[in-house]
Amino acid sequence: MITREQIHELAEFEDPAACAFSFYFQPTPPRNKAHKEEAILTKDLAREALRRLEAKGKCESARADLDRIVRLSQDLRGKDLRGKDLRGNGRRGGAHARAVFACAAQGFWREYDLPAQLSGTELMVNRHFQLKPLTQLLGALPSLGIVLVDRHRARLFDLRLGELTERMDFLHPASRRGRSAGFGGYDGGHAERRVADEALHHFKFIAEFLMDALEKGMFEKWILGCQDIHWSQFEPQLHPYAAQKLLGRFAAELAHVSREDIRSQAETIFADAQEKRCQEAVRETINQARSNARGVTGLRRVLRSLEAGEVQTLLLGQNYHAQAVECSGCGHLDAHLVSFCPVCGRETREVVDVGEAILPWIIRHDIELLYVKDDPEFDKVGNIAALLRYRSEQNSNLRSITDGVAHPSLRRRSALVARYRDRASG
Ligand SMILES: [Zn+2]
Repeated sequence: MITREQIHELAEFEDPAACAFSFYFQPTPPRNKAHKEEAILTKDLAREALRRLEAKGKCESARADLDRIVRLSQDLRGKDLRGKDLRGNGRRGGAHARAVFACAAQGFWREYDLPAQLSGTELMVNRHFQLKPLTQLLGALPSLGIVLVDRHRARLFDLRLGELTERMDFLHPASRRGRSAGFGGYDGGHAERRVADEALHHFKFIAEFLMDALEKGMFEKWILGCQDIHWSQFEPQLHPYAAQKLLGRFAAELAHVSREDIRSQAETIFADAQEKRCQEAVRETINQARSNARGVTGLRRVLRSLEAGEVQTLLLGQNYHAQAVECSGCGHLDAHLVSFCPVCGRETREVVDVGEAILPWIIRHDIELLYVKDDPEFDKVGNIAALLRYRSEQNSNLRSITDGVAHPSLRRRSALVARYRDRASG
């Protein structure tokens, strides 16, 4: 499965000749006749891509990439037919989807397994890799820790991109004396107290371990599975930060719960939490935007805030599409379809889908991205909005981008702009 660093690498990649291929292969169940057609579909997509590239006079290295992609899709088809559970969503024994990012001209080829939850098989070619299917998947499936506890044992799983992995199994065995009721009941009260102390010690230990794991970034959020009686003892031990990262809890017997049960309980809790988070973010952003505070709506203002380094959370409609232009010099994106960059004066080129074009920026700057589904209020404000860290006073002034010093990326950009200016005037 793909790591954070690998996603950053993809976001950084750019091919000036616009021959960077992104291929997403989604397996379909064999009983569905369409399955056989996935490989044929890939061939058609490849042929179409080649035709378009040939028309532009660039196809030498592209042909090598396309041949390799077609061969791969045929191999995948063979593998998927052997898989037992094609709707496996990444379950062991089930089929995975596959993503390929390739650019032979630059010697770049990366393949990643993904949970089989893509919307379909797609092949795209552009200057940058197409990252929307990936970011949608990552948003839907972040890395989650799942902790199961009882009085003297704890198990830690992580669920990342649909893959459930057991990481730890702690056992604090009850001491011999603690377990017995004491000789002839004489030591009864004492022993009971010792059992309670041992449990408390165990819960404290797990709470500390959990805090440490969150701080080290082992996972972003977590979910707890335990019996109610243990929750009342475990909860007071949690650090406030860890408590804040807890998405929800389900009732489970640590020793008997199945992996499938853990996964489905965790996925349900996560989906509910994510929907709630998304609704709250939409409401908050719209309210903030109305009072000209920490929120902006609409493409033009969102682009400006992104370039000013103000954005904390970006909200995009699931099916958002809009055109923009991108500067061939400094990379400035503009919602007005102008021929020359208002920042550096170089020529611009058209960007067909701005929702895709801003993803590399979002990934590079670790901005939270939420895809909003069917929300009439969000629709009214243009299906694009952002919650800001802060709002710069010069927000409405383009010069603030070139003169800005607040954000390191801006300084880099200013330097870049200055360089292009020099070149233009020299
Ligand atoms: Zn420019």
